[in-house]
Amino acid sequence: MKYFSTRGAGQLLSFEETVLAGLAPDGGLYIPEHIPSLPADWQTAWKDHSFVDLSVEVLSLYVTPDEISKLELRQLVEKSYSTFRHREITPLKKLTDTTYVLELFHGPTFAFKDVALQLLGNLFEFFLKRRNQSRALNEKPEKLTVVGATSGDTGSAAIYGLRNKANVSIFILHPKGRVSPIQEAQMTTVTDVNVHNLAVKGTFDDCQDVVKLLFGDREFNATHRLGAVNSINWARILAQTVYYFLSYFHIKRQVADPALEIQYVVPTGNFGDILAGYYAKRMGLPIGRLGVATNANDILTRFWKSGAYEKVDTSRATTPAGETVPAAGASDGKQAEDASGVKETLSPAMDILVSSNFERLLWYLAYDNAKGADDEERRRSAGRTIADWMGKVKSDGRVQVPTEVLERARDDFFAERVSDEQTLETIEYYFESAKYIADPHTAVGLYVARTVAPSNSPHVRQIVLSTAHPAKFSEAVTRALEGSPSFDFERDVLPPEFKGLLECERRVIDVEGADVELVKKVIEKYAVPAVAQVGADV
Ligand SMILES: *Cc1c(COP(=O)(O)O)cnc(C)c1O
Repeated sequence: MKYFSTRGAGQLLSFEETVLAGLAPDGGLYIPEHIPSLPADWQTAWKDHSFVDLSVEVLSLYVTPDEISKLELRQLVEKSYSTFRHREITPLKKLTDTTYVLELFHGPTFAFKDVALQLLGNLFEFFLKRRNQSRALNEKPEKLTVVGATSGDTGSAAIYGLRNKANVSIFILHPKGRVSPIQEAQMTTVTDVNVHNLAVKGTFDDCQDVVKLLFGDREFNATHRLGAVNSINWARILAQTVYYFLSYFHIKRQVADPALEIQYVVPTGNFGDILAGYYAKRMGLPIGRLGVATNANDILTRFWKSGAYEKVDTSRATTPAGETVPAAGASDGKQAEDASGVKETLSPAMDILVSSNFERLLWYLAYDNAKGADDEERRRSAGRTIADWMGKVKSDGRVQVPTEVLERARDDFFAERVSDEQTLETIEYYFESAKYIADPHTAVGLYVARTVAPSNSPHVRQIVLSTAHPAKFSEAVTRALEGSPSFDFERDVLPPEFKGLLECERRVIDVEGADVELVKKVIEKYAVPAVAQVGADV
């Protein structure tokens, strides 16, 4: 299987090159040259598979065995998920007769990003080790320097994914004093020699600007081989397709109904988690429409209402509130906005202005809509369309897709927006009715599932993806439940792993300002030398 950029069907890359590159040089995202279909007997052959078994099967459809053999793939997957606390890796819990939550937060940092980042770290290590082993002794070994900025959540999952990996150093910038105490503790208590936390005097945007400058600096980039682990990395999407299969089989085992329809609702920010479900569906997993649940940062919900993908909601200025966007979230008007226009919500991991993975879905929509004699022609046409649409988003802040494209998008998805108030109500509702404590991101999904999705059919089962443990977002959970006499945060929510965390030893480098030269000095000083010995086993 080869991969190419959404903005042009030009050069084809191997899986390894795709994973190490992250973003394509033309600004596009890598996608597989075709979506593999499932083996004819998948329904029976895979039905009792564990998470690891399913990972091996699904991943090997996208990774050619001459790149990674099935045995090596199994070893990588086993190692990646051995860090999870739950035997089933991503267990499914039943909340009501028709509603389930798929808990994705049993990894080392208690958030769903672990599912992908635990694997990504091992893939990096595997590829670099293999490259270095085939090198002559006098050649310089290859290494990777991962640099990223975080407002809290992604940083810790990336650090736990890359800690202690040979030939990889990781530098995570966070705005000093502006991440939650538990998130700061999660990041800075990892004391492996290849992990570096930079507490930068400034805002999250300042940190992000510094990272962008570093990636734009060709010389620095070439010397240190900068790598990114953000959600556009193809391996992350691929790793996430697995739990759609696992949960599908789980329901199939429990519900004998031949007319059964399984519907997923996904709390969404950068569109990575739900995109994995779309790939599963296109591969042939028989599931219903996918529900996109957003908070007040609702660029995706607005797209599914109007067909316009636009950073700023221009419809609200010209039409009465509630006409193009329904009542859900109508009370969000007075939310705090930062300079870029991102609104601060109770579900901060979904506070985005644009959704970086949405371009991948747009490519498939453009491809399905392209008029071409053959596949090759339609692919080239889709690449041109995406380059055009993304160019418009960049220059005008918006693009309007043709009606047929919007209709196609509505065949596979629906989208709704959820306010902070509705998020809190939902946390309370499931605590009172099902004794289940959802984190605010999961609650955004649960709200959409309960109130909007067509759950009145007796044949429908809804699976809401649960993206974080409630202890990570104590403020929202406590606000929602403090009125309940039977609720006790320490007893009901706080996992033992968090209890001593605030007191653990920390390692953090203070950076006196959001200055790219200061950050470069830190990287130059601490980037670990690559492992040089041929055959070295680390
Ligand atoms: C990253 C994240 C999301 C959003 O996932 P996307 O793949 O960006 O759509 C939702 N919830 C939590 C807790 C997250 O960390």
